[in-house]
Amino acid sequence: MFLQAKVPNVSENNPLLQPYDLPPFSAIRPEHVQPAIEQILADNRAGIQKILADQGQKPTWAGLVLAMDELNDRLGAAWSPVSHLNAVCNSAELREAYEACLPALSAYSTEMGQNRELFQAFEALAHSPQVADFDQAQKTILEHSLRDFRLSGIDLPPAEQKRYAEVQSKLSELGSKFSNQLLDATQAWTKHITDEAALAGLTESAKAQMAAAAQAKGLDGWLISLEFPSYFPVMTYAEDRALREEVYAAYCTRASDQGPNAGKFDNGPVMEEILDLRQELARLLGFASFAELSLATKMAETPDQVLTFLRDLAKRSKPFAVRDLQQLQAYAAEQGCPELKSWDSGFFGEKLREQRYSVSQEALRVYFPIDKVLGGLFAIVQKLYGIEIAEIKGFDTWHPDVRLFEIKENGQHIGRFFFDLYARANEGGGAWMDGARDRRRTAAGTLQNPVANLVCNFTPAVAGKPALLTHDEVTTLFHEFGHGLHHMLTEIEHAGVSGINGVAWDAVELPSQFMENWCWEPEGLALISGHYETGEALPKDLLDKMLAAKNFQSGLMMVRQLEFSLFDFELHATHGDGRSVLQVLEGVRDEVSVMRPPAYNRFPNSFAHIFAGGYAAGYYSYKWAEVLSADAFSRFEEEGVFNPQTGKAFRQAILARGGSLAPMELFKDFRGREPSIDALLRHSGLTEDAAA
Ligand code: ZN
Repeated sequence: MFLQAKVPNVSENNPLLQPYDLPPFSAIRPEHVQPAIEQILADNRAGIQKILADQGQKPTWAGLVLAMDELNDRLGAAWSPVSHLNAVCNSAELREAYEACLPALSAYSTEMGQNRELFQAFEALAHSPQVADFDQAQKTILEHSLRDFRLSGIDLPPAEQKRYAEVQSKLSELGSKFSNQLLDATQAWTKHITDEAALAGLTESAKAQMAAAAQAKGLDGWLISLEFPSYFPVMTYAEDRALREEVYAAYCTRASDQGPNAGKFDNGPVMEEILDLRQELARLLGFASFAELSLATKMAETPDQVLTFLRDLAKRSKPFAVRDLQQLQAYAAEQGCPELKSWDSGFFGEKLREQRYSVSQEALRVYFPIDKVLGGLFAIVQKLYGIEIAEIKGFDTWHPDVRLFEIKENGQHIGRFFFDLYARANEGGGAWMDGARDRRRTAAGTLQNPVANLVCNFTPAVAGKPALLTHDEVTTLFHEFGHGLHHMLTEIEHAGVSGINGVAWDAVELPSQFMENWCWEPEGLALISGHYETGEALPKDLLDKMLAAKNFQSGLMMVRQLEFSLFDFELHATHGDGRSVLQVLEGVRDEVSVMRPPAYNRFPNSFAHIFAGGYAAGYYSYKWAEVLSADAFSRFEEEGVFNPQTGKAFRQAILARGGSLAPMELFKDFRGREPSIDALLRHSGLTEDAAA
């Protein structure tokens, strides 16, 4: 027997299709997701046709750009709470509903990038006399739009356009193949331990994790795997040197022609094919190399500029890496290991760190109860930017622990943010900020104020105690809050470059890393720390130990990051010069490394950031943004860390202007000159002064 289901009126009952002030989180059900997204995509397609028909050959800002913003905003308003819920409290049903929408959304976005009529409308607007009256943000939006259309191949003759699409789809296939082979190789190797003595040195929690892994496979004893939570404790704590060597060799030969599973999941040919196709893609679009194509959307302008930047940092930090290594070798020799190998450095490094500083993250927790930290954070940004932050009670949410805050200035509303601070079982790991609503002036003339989601994964409160944070967690909180301020303190009224929108990848971490500095300043620590029972501020001796431990082995860490960055960039800048991937890596190691891994090491075969992630010819961005944030903070060191004039200048130059102007211009506006690497080297203890 069939029952005729009553077809509900989708748009009337679906909360994702109603306009809202704050997202209706608690009303959203998995069954709302797909119908809402399908409805909006269909409406948007019709909307674009109408815009193009109405605007004809003479598009206007309001008729074209603001009208497109309205369509994008409606889609974002429906999709943002869905992807947010999927990340913070997912269920199998929600994940299924979420994933079911991905192909349609990706097809829609490809279609937009290749809509020739839309491209021509943007071109016509960009070349019309109206542009003379546009402000900087409007001009940048037009420039970015045309650039993005060109980078999606819109300008190419049909045959090349077809090839472009083929190359793109082949590249995405190869990216998945790279990750899958890496995953398979990681899972293909395990080591079963039946004698606990073999695990001497490991922490109880690491052993418990290994025992659980064994149990899951119906084994007794312990199972070591190549997953990071298993690999890392072995390299850091296992006293059995032969065990460390065995695990190291299996780990650094994953997905390659070497090691215990040699040739079985080899990513070598995949990497060559990816590099060839990236090169072809770059050439199709008129760039000399993939490195050049990557920089088309970044702050760095030329491959030479990036390479010079990395080499300069390497030259300045290498002597400190040599010093770090000598200290480590001397310490290891004292401990009976005269020849330090790759599988020894993590182990002796940790022992030396413990011996020198004896400060543990756990011991610091009692000084960082959550309310003290939040109160201190808000006091710091009030001193810097003159903004007030107050908690709002009684709002719709996805979990009772979530808190909502409002930012005001002189009584005026600026923005709001959700704080979801604690780890839960059904939540993705890590910490992040994402924009729930962008600041923008609507076509009707009203101002939409920004809303941000800030998510962390801290340990929740236990009975009788408030939630207590480690100093690492405090730093994470400040980092994400820095992203949040970039999103919320924007003064831009055009969605395309408001807040973090339209900000170049290698500059987007500037405001977040910048905020971390206050977690290390005595003046900042005084505001954010207080023993949860006695209220006593962080004692001076603990602070000194923390500061001393901050830069332990920073020379070695710096050259390691530079090795990855230079390898990635050279590989994409010089592909086709006859050198193999390994030869490029060897060349980079000759230049910057102080410790050589064994010849069988096949690190590139598991470098997923650049072969399967978005970091190709972009890994340098980590260091680039650190230079910007350290150099920006050095102006506060010169003028006073709570100098309100300096705070105002930073807010006006960087936080207020989003992606409206090239990041180099914004930086120069604040600092009065181009960025310099000196502050980063000094903060990392890599200068003679700091070393003394
Ligand atoms: Zn970040």
